[in-house]
Amino acid sequence: MHNILHFIGNEFVPSESGATFEILTPISNSVIGNCASGQPADIDRAARAARAAFDSGSWSKMKVKDRAKKIRTIGDLILKHAEKIAELEIEDTGIPRAQITKGAIPRAADNFYFFADQLESLRGDAYTVNDEWLNYVIYRPVGVAGLITPWNTPFMLETWKVAPALASGCTVVLKPAEWSPLSASQLCKIIQEADLPPGVFNCVHGFGESAGAPLVTHPMVNLISFTGETTTGQTIIKNGADTLKRYSMELGGKSPNIVFADADLDHALDGALWQVYSLNGERCTAGSRLLVEDSIHDSFVKRLAERVKKIKVGDPNEMSTEVGPLIHPEHFSRVKGFMHVAKQDGATILVGGDRPAGYGVGNYFLPTLITDVTNDMRIAQEEVFGPVLVVIPFKGEAEAIRLANDIKYGLAGYVWTRDVERAHRVAASLECGMVWVNAQNVRDLRLPFGGSKWSGIGREGGELSFKEFFMEAKSVHVPLKANHIPRMGG
Ligand code: NAD
Repeated sequence: MHNILHFIGNEFVPSESGATFEILTPISNSVIGNCASGQPADIDRAARAARAAFDSGSWSKMKVKDRAKKIRTIGDLILKHAEKIAELEIEDTGIPRAQITKGAIPRAADNFYFFADQLESLRGDAYTVNDEWLNYVIYRPVGVAGLITPWNTPFMLETWKVAPALASGCTVVLKPAEWSPLSASQLCKIIQEADLPPGVFNCVHGFGESAGAPLVTHPMVNLISFTGETTTGQTIIKNGADTLKRYSMELGGKSPNIVFADADLDHALDGALWQVYSLNGERCTAGSRLLVEDSIHDSFVKRLAERVKKIKVGDPNEMSTEVGPLIHPEHFSRVKGFMHVAKQDGATILVGGDRPAGYGVGNYFLPTLITDVTNDMRIAQEEVFGPVLVVIPFKGEAEAIRLANDIKYGLAGYVWTRDVERAHRVAASLECGMVWVNAQNVRDLRLPFGGSKWSGIGREGGELSFKEFFMEAKSVHVPLKANHIPRMGG
């Protein structure tokens, strides 16, 4: 049984109130441990520890070379403890082993290596005005960063925020999602092993209302980097107004995956499958709306259906499993509920739509393919966040773009075509933050990551994580000789 505690000032501590909540595994929904349930008092303690650490300068003013070394050490320790992290993440989230060990964990380590490099190469611009002024920009860490994360691929997403926040010189209070506290606790152990100054990194577990909300309103916390549902993001922005928080919002998505008739259809098929069924479909950048050109629609859907039926659902511990159980019984019910919604609106559940045979316990849900869908149906407009793909036919490029953009979200887009000019045209026309042409979501950490419309505010990634968010630009103006100042007062 796991006994998960908060991590404040480099020590593992229970909630001051002693409150805990039960941790379930999605594999069986049995209780596998207890987790400290953070309350405002715990958040206050963590925020004060982070504030004191920031103000002491022990981290924010540490020599860049030394801070970067510590950040790289965290990356090394993630790789050293990779098996333990994988074990916890599988037990906690049901994500298949292969996708965790080959994808999420190496990427988590890369997050630290990448931002250590970024820190060492951070530049500010300098400007001269004639030979009279030298004006330049320096970057300073903002202060205490509140990081609030979701339960999907939690370890990778937590490190995506923790790495740039720490590298920038900010101190941190992390509030992981309540449905997936295990691997965050392992991150705390790793950071303890990396021996950062006390209070630089803190983690308070708990529910959104009792632990997340007081982090957002805490006056000692300067910024909130949030990943989660759009509606939660809206609440957070409202709640943080009185303390003038700076925000980065990575929110929901319902991203179009557009397949033109001239595409390499084998490749497009692989991409369509991976982009929605990997990570159990619990992926913000899922290509969950498949738009297929009408001339190839029927044959493409036929091939797709054959492949979807063959996806291996099962125990996420098995290396060969492709789809594991959904995170939580509540989420299972939500995904299942969408099947009724789709049918009521006139769509056809062509494949899946229910529990697989032989899986009476756990949150297993069959990879699902839904056809006879029009873009105005709820199943086409709302984020399901499960292994559910809807297919919508289109006629010509203009209609593809219109359908792709006819949605409140704007996180990612995928385009499959051999026509180079069209690929660029469509990429430029999609209303979203990121586009992949003839590829699944393969990240280049130097590029901005984020969404437009209801999918987010701001971009992280590359030096934007520092320059736009975790650091503050300061403009310094220096005259190179005595400057004329209009005289006042005689
Ligand atoms: P969620 O919004 O329910 O919860 C996310 C986090 O917010 C949790 O830690 C939760 O405890 C906390 N929270 C809830 N209410 C809060 C409040 N009032 N104040 C402060 N914190 C609060 O999201 P989820 O269900 O955990 O995650 C799934 C969602 O995340 C999906 O919509 C998905 O698209 C989105 N997501 C987006 C990205 C991206 O980069 N755009 C990446 C991953 C997931």
